[in-house]
Amino acid sequence: MSDRWIEETFHADWRVALRASKVLHEVKTDHQHLVIFENPSWGTVLMLDGVVQLTTKDEHVYHEMMAHVPLMALDRPSKVLIVGGGDGGVLREVLKHTCVDKAVLVEIDREVIDTSLQYFPQIPQQALESARSEVVIADGLKYVAETDELFDCIIVDSSEPIGPSAVLHSKEFFASCRRALTPGGALVTQNGLAQLFPDHLAGTTRIFASLFKRAAPYICHQPCYFGGLFALNLATDDKSILGIGPKKLAKRARKRGVADLKYWTPAVHLGAFALPAELQRTLEHSLAAGKAGDDSGYVMAPAPKAPAKKTAPKKQAPKSPEKKAATKKTAAIPSKPAAKSQPKSKTSR
Ligand code: SAM
Repeated sequence: MSDRWIEETFHADWRVALRASKVLHEVKTDHQHLVIFENPSWGTVLMLDGVVQLTTKDEHVYHEMMAHVPLMALDRPSKVLIVGGGDGGVLREVLKHTCVDKAVLVEIDREVIDTSLQYFPQIPQQALESARSEVVIADGLKYVAETDELFDCIIVDSSEPIGPSAVLHSKEFFASCRRALTPGGALVTQNGLAQLFPDHLAGTTRIFASLFKRAAPYICHQPCYFGGLFALNLATDDKSILGIGPKKLAKRARKRGVADLKYWTPAVHLGAFALPAELQRTLEHSLAAGKAGDDSGYVMAPAPKAPAKKTAPKKQAPKSPEKKAATKKTAAIPSKPAAKSQPKSKTSR
């Protein structure tokens, strides 16, 4: 059993480490540091730039809530755009809706797609190869700004606002999304850990309120995102889509053949919009600010640098030949992102 511990490095004030019983793949791609490893409790884990993206144990929570909340709210969504989400989990859930004719997935990093298919094919299943799917390797900011297609639903399955994902949390990007939505369509994004870092949720809510008639944050509990409630945020110009009752939601699920889910139910869907009092106040404040023209989004503050590693005491025994060889091998594939790409920001989750 390996004793390597892989840390989430992007939090300013805390660090969570997961034991890697086996590192399956580790590489610095053109865009980010990617590591996939096995953990006896969480299953297979994908980490990008020091941030846990998913584990095979609980990926269904986030993927179901990202896909089914906006899609079940819409009458008959047929065209869906997913920005990011190269692991294919959101796409898998989207394609469960038989009314969806076409789902475009725009991912910046081909390696996320390739390694997902190789190391945890149970997440994308056949979604990435489906005749209803179109996979585009491109920057989502550029793609959405330039597309002349319209989508009933846009799901932004981004990472945290650091590295290549930072632009996917900007007003410029969300304004392009609005332009690429059919009238009354829905836009959904993730908003990090709501209770610990409410500024992310507040910033996106201000932007959404400045662009759309309605912004509606909702929450789920995603165990692998350590720190409590996880926020998502929905924006639309059709306020009625948020008033669909449980019977109609259940009917839609049946009619579309969406079955055997592990997290989403009509009751969970409706309950997800009920925020704890403190978050509700944040939300009301941000909605009012956004409507009044404050569209300032969330920008991560730089996190303090990690303390320099202590040098080994001189009297330590010399390394064995095997240990030397192992050190050399790891050095070829950086176990941590290079200084430039290492997240230095204050966390939002
Ligand atoms: N469900 C997980 C979560 O939220 O933590 C997974 C998120 S998914 C893996 C995030 C994806 O967004 C990554 O594969 C990353 O490469 C992609 N991404 C980051 N910046 C992007 C950009 N500008 N355009 C398109 N995709 C981007």
